[in-house]
Amino acid sequence: MRTWLMSLAIALPALAAGCSYSNPAVSVDQGKEAPVHAVGSAAVNMDRVLNAASEPSSWLTVGGDYNEQRFSKLDQLNETNVETLGLAWYADIDTERGQESTPIIVDGLMYLTTAWSMVKVYDIHSGAKVWEYDPKVDRAKGSDACCDVVNRGVAAWNGKIYLGALDGRLIALDGKTGKEVWSVKTVPDGTHHTITGAPRIANGKIFIGNGGAEYDIRGNIAAFDAETGKKLWNWYAVPGDPAKPYEQPELEMAAKTWKGDTYWKLGGGATIWDTIVYDPETNLIYFGTGNGLSWAQEARSPGGGDNLFVSSIVALDADTGKYAWHYQETPGDEWDYDNCNPVMIADLPFKDGKKHVVMQASKNGFYYVLDAKTGKLISAEKYVPETNWATHVDMATGRPVENPDARYSASGKPVIIWPAALGMHNWHPMAYSPETGYVYIPVTVSNAPYAAQDDFVFNPNGWNTGTDFAGGASLYTKPGAPPRGNVISYILAWDPVNAKEVWRIPNKEYGASGLLATSGNLIFSGNHAGQFAAYDSRTGRELWTAPTQARVVAAPATYTVDGQQQVAILVGARGLPPGQTRTVATAANNSRILVFRPGGSATLPAEMVAAASAPSGKVTINPPLVTANNETVAAGEQAYAANCAICHGQQAVPGAGATAPDLRYSALLPFKAQFNGPVRQGERATRGMPGFGNTLDEETTDAILAYIIKRANDEKATQEAAARPN
Ligand code: CA
Repeated sequence: MRTWLMSLAIALPALAAGCSYSNPAVSVDQGKEAPVHAVGSAAVNMDRVLNAASEPSSWLTVGGDYNEQRFSKLDQLNETNVETLGLAWYADIDTERGQESTPIIVDGLMYLTTAWSMVKVYDIHSGAKVWEYDPKVDRAKGSDACCDVVNRGVAAWNGKIYLGALDGRLIALDGKTGKEVWSVKTVPDGTHHTITGAPRIANGKIFIGNGGAEYDIRGNIAAFDAETGKKLWNWYAVPGDPAKPYEQPELEMAAKTWKGDTYWKLGGGATIWDTIVYDPETNLIYFGTGNGLSWAQEARSPGGGDNLFVSSIVALDADTGKYAWHYQETPGDEWDYDNCNPVMIADLPFKDGKKHVVMQASKNGFYYVLDAKTGKLISAEKYVPETNWATHVDMATGRPVENPDARYSASGKPVIIWPAALGMHNWHPMAYSPETGYVYIPVTVSNAPYAAQDDFVFNPNGWNTGTDFAGGASLYTKPGAPPRGNVISYILAWDPVNAKEVWRIPNKEYGASGLLATSGNLIFSGNHAGQFAAYDSRTGRELWTAPTQARVVAAPATYTVDGQQQVAILVGARGLPPGQTRTVATAANNSRILVFRPGGSATLPAEMVAAASAPSGKVTINPPLVTANNETVAAGEQAYAANCAICHGQQAVPGAGATAPDLRYSALLPFKAQFNGPVRQGERATRGMPGFGNTLDEETTDAILAYIIKRANDEKATQEAAARPN
């Protein structure tokens, strides 16, 4: 009876959508039978998440379940048959920015978020769109998002779907209809806070933090009632004004680790912008905190100090928000080593018995294993050997032993440090297979020059890193200097018990992509070469690939449809893979949700002619002559690095990380007045180019233009030299 009810509930909308499919009987082939819920019920509760492995037809949370291991017990697809996977269906996504969410699959529907915090919902049988929701985030808000206007997914609970919008709203939607149930602003008005992370829910409480620690923000996390949106508790990550009572007792202890009074005036940073994990065994939530504000420690806490709780893993009581423990991975961080990247819970089989742990492949290049109940350090080893800001972690003190040259703001000497600010591993989800015992980490090996800004003054409208992004470049011209920037990337299989690398799969194209591990001896991952791939989780051998026509950064999900295992992946981010042309002429990338099943025979659309924009090779570069003086160009270089580089690329060259056009090819270069329009007045705000208003004055904007013209002439000269016969 129960099976019949579920079949009917799932079959009806699919038939209504004009789709037929074989074997409508739902087979629940593992563990206890899944509960019966009508399509769109979003009837998630504690019991279901705790027993997620017994529901093969679901992927209930972005991380799979509360452990966030991104591991599926499904083994129908395995190393012997994964090559039969083909495209089942796909759907175009109507934004041309980065797509970072993992879909959740619950009660017959797939829910995902896109850039600009939109929610898209699909029937898992037909791929038909069931509903969509656009919170209509003001496009000018895009300038507050350091790393694109992304969103990493929704949470489902008791009939509702929850979304954190870029502008700081937490929104509850009806799971069946997408109708807004409630919406609360979780951040103060008129600030630079953003939400890009997925909310997490346990026992009817939603946990959400926010980002923005390059601006003027005091990091916090809060819990809200899932039914009403009422705020239940708040926890600040750094101390506030010492003249006022501390909101939490541990902030008094934290305040002793700061110096001066700049930090609380600026906000202090330590934002909680991605991972939050609920542990049913301890009833704690674990999360990472971001960088201090400013990055350069002398600018925020002159004379040093640990600056609690920046760059830490923190545990709070989930019911009350009361502090339980913390472990600071990067005391007194000044290299932007946020700890916000994924945290996982696992029961690891150590020689002296099983240990319930929290673990993280930190941005800072070390892999940390902590006791989940106490926060006690179990191990900390470099998972990327090139890491050089510290030589090792002293297990007696739990503290890193730093490279004596690393503290550039105290020494005043620029230095090349591994890793760069984007980290050896960033937000891209890692996966853990309890069967192989390996953690699979998307590793990006990089270095950067760090240099303190000589004359740092707080800018209430812009970034306040206190660093000189153009400084230290000359270090790369010295003998023995490493290659600058992004060096290599790979998928790393790491043994967290023995703290050792097992093997690595080099990426065809630099960049990180989220991972999924399954009981079928498989790991799934997209890449930046424009493929979705499966590998043997024991050896790393590549078993299958399919074209995505897009770079992939998000992580996949797997679930069954009518008893058949399928895999879904959201694609599209950071420009197109090399050699790939657009399939929609006006889109910057080919953003789509792709779903694969055995025997799937759908095909992606034929490629369209590349849009007439650089660097397709079809557009000639034609800048005006450089008429500005050297001082103006140099001022423009500084202003460009601080305001434009994060989207348009360092030194006006959009690399793999760029999300916006190559300005050297801009048709506006000859027209000073028209260049001011999009930059200052926000004329292209609806397309994601925010107006900088009065943050950039006319003189600075003109200097940026002069710098871009200079860089365009450099490129023109390079191209002409290459075209000349030898
Ligand atoms: Ca940061």
